Amino acid sequence: MPDLSRLALNQITTYRWTMDQAIEGCAARGVGGIGVWRQYLEAYGVGQTARHLKEAGLFTASLCTSAWFNHAGDAEFKAAIDENRRILDDAAAIGAPTLVMVVGGLPPGAKDLAGQRARVRDALHELLDHARATGVRLGLEPLHPMYAGSRSCLNTMAMANDLCDELGEGTAVVADVYHCWWDPEFEAGLRRAGPDRVATFHLCDWREPTRNLCDRAMVGDGVADIGALRRVLDDIGYKGPFELELFSELDWWRRDPDDVLDIGIERCAPYVMR
Ligand code: ZN
Repeated sequence: MPDLSRLALNQITTYRWTMDQAIEGCAARGVGGIGVWRQYLEAYGVGQTARHLKEAGLFTASLCTSAWFNHAGDAEFKAAIDENRRILDDAAAIGAPTLVMVVGGLPPGAKDLAGQRARVRDALHELLDHARATGVRLGLEPLHPMYAGSRSCLNTMAMANDLCDELGEGTAVVADVYHCWWDPEFEAGLRRAGPDRVATFHLCDWREPTRNLCDRAMVGDGVADIGALRRVLDDIGYKGPFELELFSELDWWRRDPDDVLDIGIERCAPYVMR
């Protein structure tokens, strides 16, 4: 029986499971923790989720995700910041040490990517006090640049590290194989972040060929060298969680979630040992 105490199921992976099913599915298999998504949290309730996680003995790796900042109007932009304060409160209530920040791409019709990145930076500054007060870190997750127009204009580990340097306490990076494997500076970015600033590490793989924007491969089925990444993480002294995180419209989301988690555990086991 492998030691799965560092492994967390990022619950988007078991897309069709409710919060209750995901918690029980992890507990039954000895998976140490869970990466919670907001839609399941809202459906099950914050209080009930917190109680159930505690009873099951699971740690919370993170809460996914922040509300986007891709609004054109100032009022909507401000509302998104307020919404993120509320999400930080929910993260604290379920014991999540990190809120995964997916910051949104360009506002509709906009072309000013540099300007939007500056607005995101301003938004993070505005959120920082609340993050510090709740004890939940803003986990800056660089997304693959193919999402720069839609889901996130934060696209490299270097950008995330620069923001963490500027913002300081209360911030961290979230590293994800699928989003960062292509980046020649990925390893350097992990080393620059160091063990304390890497909040959590998302395990998945890059499918070749990739068919759409929601087509991650199971760990080991793609072209990313996950063993090499684990060696870098060991080298820097990373002690945090590993989350299995698959978005997969055409394949894994269509399968029985019990099978997905069983296969995921088998594939992740070599990379999640202590
Ligand atoms: Zn991720």
